[in-house]
Amino acid sequence: MSAATIGILGRCAHCQRTLLLEPWQLNAIAINEPFTCSHCENTLQLNDPKQIRRFKSLDSLALLRASTLVMVCTALLVALVMEWVGMLSVMEQLNFSLLAIFVYFAVVRFARHRQHITLTLEAAKAHVD
Ligand SMILES: [Zn+2]
Repeated sequence: MSAATIGILGRCAHCQRTLLLEPWQLNAIAINEPFTCSHCENTLQLNDPKQIRRFKSLDSLALLRASTLVMVCTALLVALVMEWVGMLSVMEQLNFSLLAIFVYFAVVRFARHRQHITLTLEAAKAHVD
């Protein structure tokens, strides 16, 4: 699991307590395996298909953030070079750079908002093959 999954909360179906999910618990969720609650030691599982889909989309959010950062850095460099060779005025270069930075922060904000989730964990069913 990547850094995108740090800080995800889960609500335990047994003790109703909210727990900060550990990396190994997140791994268990990712492979759809039951795991134990850190408070009451009962087995839990994420069963809601909607939440599973949202959980799986967290990795693509991290990718979105990373690729936006690369894109913005490239845009800033291009604007700087264009100013050096005289294709842009200093003002235009400044405006363009500010716009690029603004877009980056908008994406980061969006990603952080989407990342803030509390998973409703259900009691694990007996494993049936
Ligand atoms: Zn519990």
